[in-house]
Amino acid sequence: MAAKTTRPETISAQALGWIDEQTRAITPPIHVSSTYLRDPDNQYRSGRVYARADNPAFDQPEAVLNALEGGHQTLLFASGMAAATAVFQALQPGDHVLAPQVMYWSLRNWLMSFAVSWGLDVELIDMASPAAVQAALRPGLTRLVWVETPANPLWTVTDIAATAQAAHAVGALLAVDSTVATPVLTQPLALGADLVMHAATKYLNGHSDLIAGSLTTRSDNAHWQKVRKVRAQLGGTLGSFEAWLLLRGMRTLHLRVRAACASAQRIAEHFNGHPLVAEVLYPGLPGFVGHDVARAQMSGGFGGMMSIRVKAGRHGGEAAAIAVAAQTAIWKRATSLGGTESLIEHRASVEGPGTPAPVDLLRLSTGIEHVDDLIADLEQALAHAHA
Ligand SMILES: *Cc1c(COP(=O)(O)O)cnc(C)c1O
Repeated sequence: MAAKTTRPETISAQALGWIDEQTRAITPPIHVSSTYLRDPDNQYRSGRVYARADNPAFDQPEAVLNALEGGHQTLLFASGMAAATAVFQALQPGDHVLAPQVMYWSLRNWLMSFAVSWGLDVELIDMASPAAVQAALRPGLTRLVWVETPANPLWTVTDIAATAQAAHAVGALLAVDSTVATPVLTQPLALGADLVMHAATKYLNGHSDLIAGSLTTRSDNAHWQKVRKVRAQLGGTLGSFEAWLLLRGMRTLHLRVRAACASAQRIAEHFNGHPLVAEVLYPGLPGFVGHDVARAQMSGGFGGMMSIRVKAGRHGGEAAAIAVAAQTAIWKRATSLGGTESLIEHRASVEGPGTPAPVDLLRLSTGIEHVDDLIADLEQALAHAHA
C-alpha cells in the first residue's frame, strides 16, 4: 500500500502522485480539446462539455493547490486579476465591501473604477488596524472584506484570524490575497478566511513564464457558486498549456520559496541601518510594525518581498532610487515578483498619483540566486548612485 502523501513538500513535489491511467506517464499530457463528445442518449456522463467552463488540464493543478491550502475546492483563472475580480463580480450592486488602502495597485484601480461604477460600495481602510476594520464594518450590509498580507508595496501585515472573526460577526466573507505569503508560509483558511486568492503568475508558477490566478474556498456556498459561474460565463479561463506549466512550477514551490525567504531575510538584515538606506520594509525585521502578527501567522519565513527606501543623494530621494535601479546588473529592472530571478522596481513611477509608495522606494523581489551576489550588486548600485 502506498504511503499517504500528507506533507506539503511531498504533495507539491509529486503533484499528488497522480499517474496517467492510460499511458502510466508520471507527467500528465497537455489536454487541448475545447469540446467533448456527448453520449448517444444525449447525456454528458464524462462531466465535460466545453473547455470554457471546465478542462481536464485543471484537475491536477487545482487539486494540488487545494491540498496545499486545505480548501474545499480550487479554481484556476486566466490571471490573478481574473481570479480577484470574480470574487467581487459574484456580489450584488449595493453590497458594501472593505479593501485595504495598501494593496496590489491594479486591483485597487479596478475596484475604485469598474467595481464602483457597477454599484459596489467600496471602502478603502487601514487593514492593519483592527480598530479601523471594526469601525468600518456595517452589520448586514458589508458582504466582503478583502485582505492582502503582506501587502504591496509596503508589506503591511494584516491579522487574518482577527479580521475573519470581525468579518464573520457581521455576516461578511473574508478573502485573502495570499500571493506574497504563498501556501508555504501561511494557510489563510485555517486562520478563518473564507477564500484565498493567488496570482499564480508569481510564486506558485515561479518562472516568470505564464499569467494565471486561483481561488480556493473553505466551503461550498451561494457566493462560491456565483464565482464558478463568473469563470464559466465571462471566460476568464486559463489555457491548457499554462495549466500544465503551472503544475510543473508548483513541484518546486517549497524549495524556491524557502530559498527566497532565507535570502530576503539576509538582505533585509544587511541593508537595515545601512548608511545609504533610509529604511528597509520587511516583515522579518523585528523592528517592523507588523512583525509580531507576521511571526504568529507565517511559518518558515517572512516571504521574498521587501522594499528599501534610498537615502537622498544630491538630487533627492527619487533620483537616488531611480539611479540605484539603473545601476543594478543582477537585479533586473522589471515589474512582477516571485520568479527565480531577482527583480527591482521603482513603484511610485508605476503606480502614479495616489500611490502609498514613497518616491524613494524600490521594491525588491528576491529570487534564488546566490545571496552574496544579490547583496554585492545592491551595494555597488547604492555606492554608484551616491557617488
Ligand atoms: C500580480 C499580482 C496580482 C495580479 O495577478 P496577475 O496574474 O498579474 O493578474 C494580484 N495580487 C498580487 C499581490 C500580485 O502580486
